[in-house]
Amino acid sequence: MKKWNLVIDVAECHNCNNCFLAVKDEYTGNDIPGYAAPQPLHGHKWLNILSKERGRTPMVDAAHVPTICNHCDDAPCIAAGKGAVTKRADGIVLIDPEAAKGRKDLVEACPYGAIWWNDELSLPQAWPFDAHLLDRGWSAPRPVQSCPTGAMQALKISDEDMAALAREQNLETLRPELGTRPRVYYKNLYRYTKLFAGGAVLGIKRGVIDCLAGAQVGLRKDGKPIASVETDAFGDFKFDRLEPGSGDYEITVSCDGYRPAAVRFALAQESAVLADIVLELA
Ligand code: SF4
Ligand code: SF4
Repeated sequence: MKKWNLVIDVAECHNCNNCFLAVKDEYTGNDIPGYAAPQPLHGHKWLNILSKERGRTPMVDAAHVPTICNHCDDAPCIAAGKGAVTKRADGIVLIDPEAAKGRKDLVEACPYGAIWWNDELSLPQAWPFDAHLLDRGWSAPRPVQSCPTGAMQALKISDEDMAALAREQNLETLRPELGTRPRVYYKNLYRYTKLFAGGAVLGIKRGVIDCLAGAQVGLRKDGKPIASVETDAFGDFKFDRLEPGSGDYEITVSCDGYRPAAVRFALAQESAVLADIVLELA
């Protein structure tokens, strides 16, 4: 049995908001019986883009993560809904616009904040995967079709094939510890959830300071080496995918003809851009 999934590549999302607007355009003021009642003009973000900057000048990056109903296989909203929320055979979760009337408790039932309360209609609402369009033969939902970078993909494949793809491409879901088994997967999510440590290596030669390309930079934790890189043409280095709150680290730097150096730093909740590391001739 083939089922719907979304795969979102955080590295390819440029925060253009086309996907957000496509959802707004599809549902605002439109009644789609059996699928969704009209979304209010203001206040609802059925597709909500989270953004985070890491680092500081001159080493800084930004990540954007479109979030949306995950169409979970073990969805707390279905358990709480007592018939008002159902899962279709193709994996799509629907909040029944009639049966869910007055069920404000369903907003709290979703641990992802994907259910929005429509005060005017007294109705909990979430993105229904554009099921009405897919049922009319569309090949992908509108947010996917509106994405100019290809950051968002819709896949209708078996659960076995999806699990294999997730393994091959290191795809992640949001908050897997909840055990809700989301059908929305993310590639390169580390750019939002993890930290980096980076800096630049310079060398002093005959009184002149210059970038040191090709220097060996090692990262150590608890006295053990855990990663190593070479500096680029600008003398820069970066270690990524480090855990927030992971504490103390040491960086060691060596380069032929220069005296080695080491610096220590600690990671709390922010990425670390270290002061320039200057090597002197041996
Ligand atoms: S993300 Fe929330 S609303 Fe969507 S299926 Fe999962 S629990 Fe339900
Ligand atoms: S349309 Fe694509 S690139 Fe633009 S915000 Fe959405 S996912 Fe990102």
